[in-house]
Amino acid sequence: MESTLKRTWAEIDLDALERNYHALRRHIGPDVKFLGVVKADAYGHGAVQVGRLLQQLQADYLAVSSVDEAMELRQNGITLPILILGHTPQEQVELMIRNHITQAVTCRAKALEYSEEAVRCGGELTVHIKVDTGMSRLGYLCAGRHFETGVQGICDACKLPGLRPEGIFTHFAVADEPDADSAAYTKRQFALFRQVIRGVEERWGQSFALHHCANTGATACWPETYLDMVRPGLLLYGCGELSRQLGLEPVMTLKTTVSTVKTYDPDTDVSYGRLFTTQRTTRMGVVPYGYADGFLRCLSGRCSLMTAEGPAPQRGRICMDMCMIDLTDLPGVDVGAEVEIFGKRALVEDLARRADTIPYELTCAVSKRVPRIYYRQGQAVERELLLRF
Ligand SMILES: *Cc1c(COP(=O)(O)O)cnc(C)c1O
Repeated sequence: MESTLKRTWAEIDLDALERNYHALRRHIGPDVKFLGVVKADAYGHGAVQVGRLLQQLQADYLAVSSVDEAMELRQNGITLPILILGHTPQEQVELMIRNHITQAVTCRAKALEYSEEAVRCGGELTVHIKVDTGMSRLGYLCAGRHFETGVQGICDACKLPGLRPEGIFTHFAVADEPDADSAAYTKRQFALFRQVIRGVEERWGQSFALHHCANTGATACWPETYLDMVRPGLLLYGCGELSRQLGLEPVMTLKTTVSTVKTYDPDTDVSYGRLFTTQRTTRMGVVPYGYADGFLRCLSGRCSLMTAEGPAPQRGRICMDMCMIDLTDLPGVDVGAEVEIFGKRALVEDLARRADTIPYELTCAVSKRVPRIYYRQGQAVERELLLRF
C-alpha cells in the first residue's frame, strides 16, 4: 500500500462531503428526506466510507445498484435503509429480507417472483415501485395508452402477499439539461408521475410512505419535484456544473507524480502510434497514470494535467500505465512533483467535456489499483487499496 502511494492516488475529502450534504439539506428544506446514491462504489469515492458518513449525518436512505453493493454496506456496519435500484434475482429475496434491504419492483413479472419467494421463506420484502414516465429503462410503462394497464399493474403488485410497498419512484431523463424542450419533457414526466400516484393510491386505497423522483438535475433545478425525498448522487460528490452553481465542493482529488523527466530534440516522436512529434527541444515528464488507472485513452493529446506551476499539456498516446506531459514551459516542475489530474483545482467536468463524456464516467473509471486516501480535518484517517494481497 505505502509502495503505491507515490504513484497515483485519490484523496477523498470527507469534510467536503459533509459540507455538501449540509448545503444540500439547506437547499431542499427541513421537510424533505434525503437519499444518498452510493452505487458504483459511490461513483468511485468508496461506498462504505461515504455510506458511513451519510449515516452519521442522519441521511434517511441509501441507494445502490445491486444486492452485492447493498451487502457490502451491511457487512460494514451500515444500518440505514438501502434501496436497490436495479434488478435482483429471485434467489436473493431471502437475503434482502434478512438484511432489511429494499428492492425496486419494475414490472409484473418481477413483482410476482419477489412475492412468491418472500412467501416461500415466510418474510416480507420492502419494495419501492418504479414507474417509467419517459426514461424508457426500468419501470411500469405508464405513458399514453399504457396508463390504465400501468396503474392496474402497480395496484396488483401492491396487493401481493409478501411485499410491503413502502415507496414509489420514477427517474428523469433530462432534468439536468437547461433547454426549453428538456424542461418541458421533465414537466411532462413529473405530471405523469403524479397522475400515476393518484390513480394507484385511489384504487389501492392506501398511500405510499415515500414518493421520490429528484435526481441531481431535479434536486438542483426543480424544487416542485422533491415530494417526500430527493435522490441525488453527483451533487453529493460536488461534481458537474450544477454543483458549481450550488457552491458544492469536489470531494475527490486524483493525483499523480512526475516519475521521470527527459529532454528530447526537436522532431522526436512520442509514445505509441507516434501521434506527437516534438517541434522544439522539449522537457517531457512521465507520470504513472494510464488507462488502467482510469485515464480515458480518447483524451490522448487532448487535455492538460495541473502542476503547481500551471497546466501541463498531455502529449502522445495515453498508455496502460503511464502517459507523458509537456513540462517545457514549466521549468520548476521536476521529478517527484505532484500533479492534479482532477479535483479542486482542475474540475472533473472540464476534463469530462474534453472526452465528450460526463463527470460520472471519470470518477467511476478510477480503477481499483488507485488507492483512496480519506481525509478528515486535513488528516489522512484511512487508506484503502482494493487489490488482493
Ligand atoms: C444513479 C441514479 C440516481 C442519481 O443520479 P445523479 O444524476 O447522480 O443524481 C438517482 N436515481 C436513480 C434511479 C439512479 O439510477
